[in-house]
Amino acid sequence: MGKITTAVILISMHMQRPFLYEKKALFLDRDGIIIKMYYDRNFGIIDTPLSVSQIEFVPGIFELLRYAKQLGYLLILISNQPGVGIKKISLKRYNEIKAYISKVLQKHGITLNGQYYCMHHPYASILKYRKECPDRKPSTDLLIKASKDFNIDLKKSWMIGDGIYDIIAGYEAGCKTVLVGNIIEAEYLRILEEKLGNIRPTFLVKNIKEIKTLFAS
Ligand SMILES: [Mg+2]
Ligand SMILES: [Zn+2]
Repeated sequence: MGKITTAVILISMHMQRPFLYEKKALFLDRDGIIIKMYYDRNFGIIDTPLSVSQIEFVPGIFELLRYAKQLGYLLILISNQPGVGIKKISLKRYNEIKAYISKVLQKHGITLNGQYYCMHHPYASILKYRKECPDRKPSTDLLIKASKDFNIDLKKSWMIGDGIYDIIAGYEAGCKTVLVGNIIEAEYLRILEEKLGNIRPTFLVKNIKEIKTLFAS
């Protein structure tokens, strides 16, 4: 009898526990934030890396992630990856890149707590991926999913991205946001302003290294 009572108490404590320990997170976009966009000399375009050999990590990202972890933030990737569906990259290559990023982060003492991807695209040529997916940024769905999975207080959390969709998703989910604008110039800002409407990122920085000081304050 005594044993059963104890078990019941333990179960109910376990169920309540998440509410007592709400966590905070750093939600991170992948391309342009963790790894650099790739400049293709042959075509003169900047794009998502399509092979491991094209990957370079963004300067300062390891330091930022280690620091955020020290401050008690969970590290969670939130990424639109339509490349496979639109046949820009094979699933094999895509998985190689994913594994490589994790491996390099690990080598620098960083483990992502969660990785959330939307691989759909409304114009994907592979049918399996063709969908107006509710997960795709600027939708807040993946952020909300992560917040439920990890019991995260979105108001205490940050979304860091280099794209307008990252900022909209973060803002709509109630997070603070940092827009990393690698080219901060008048024209770029004008376009941003237009696309963001009334939404403003909490902070606008030129590079990842500037972010560390924002958390310290
Ligand atoms: Mg990006
Ligand atoms: Zn999706």
